[in-house]
Amino acid sequence: MDTGLTDKVAIVTGGASGIGLSCARALAGENARVVLADLDHESAEREALELGTDAIGASVDVTDPGSVQALVDTTVERWGTVDALVTCAGVFHATPFDEIDALEWDRVLGVNLRGTFLTTQAVLRVMLPRGQGRIVTIASLAGQAGGLAAGAAYAASKAGVVALTKSIARFAGPHGITANCVNPGVIDTPMIQAWPDDARERTIGATPLGRVGSPEEVAAMVVVLASDVASFVHGAHIDINGGLLMD
Ligand code: NAP
Repeated sequence: MDTGLTDKVAIVTGGASGIGLSCARALAGENARVVLADLDHESAEREALELGTDAIGASVDVTDPGSVQALVDTTVERWGTVDALVTCAGVFHATPFDEIDALEWDRVLGVNLRGTFLTTQAVLRVMLPRGQGRIVTIASLAGQAGGLAAGAAYAASKAGVVALTKSIARFAGPHGITANCVNPGVIDTPMIQAWPDDARERTIGATPLGRVGSPEEVAAMVVVLASDVASFVHGAHIDINGGLLMD
């Protein structure tokens, strides 16, 4: 099946690690030009070098409008446009509800929700005049279930990403731009390394497929949503969780 991604330009935030890195690799595997954008720009640049001449690493703090605009400007200067955005930058926390302070709340919501908003808004300024584009956001099973191991700020931020994606879909759809969201369950990335063993085992025990997912399994669905294959998939949120939650 032709994904139509050859020579398309994709920005992947959180592209230096985990799901974002797998998305960048999978998009590059479809011959897209990829910007791996991350707070950790040294890793982003190193990973981009591994991918070859059609990938660059870039520094971004998705909570900062100026930094996000600079990322989009750099991409347009390099390759002339942006065809797809995948918003993987995120932070996790597991603080008990009664111990979350306002700073922590703002930090988690700031990266996961405000960051998704700012990045999408900046990219849409390039996509809208062209009347085409693909937005793929990363929410979480935590946003659906209230967080199995995750804290309330994380769960709320991810539920917000689902609603935000639907709002983007309503706004951008009439301009030929699709917006969709994936809800990963437990995926084997650096983000879950800090999970206590018992939480990990409990989760695996409750998962019909009996294991955690890999970042490549999330990336495969993201590539479909970023491609011509998903031309009529719009405003959707797609679970990738091994059956841990079925709704
Ligand atoms: P990860 O390996 O920790 O990757 C997240 C990346 O985002 C890191 O490289 C991190 O950089 C970067 N980042 C953090 N704050 C940023 C900011 N302000 N601006 C730019 N980049 C920033 O985690 P992951 O598991 O791949 O997570 C990717 C996405 O999937 C996240 O949105 C996460 O919430 C979501 N997700 C993950 C799972 C899972 O089980 N792993 C499940 C559901 C959803 P630093 O390392 O320098 O902070």
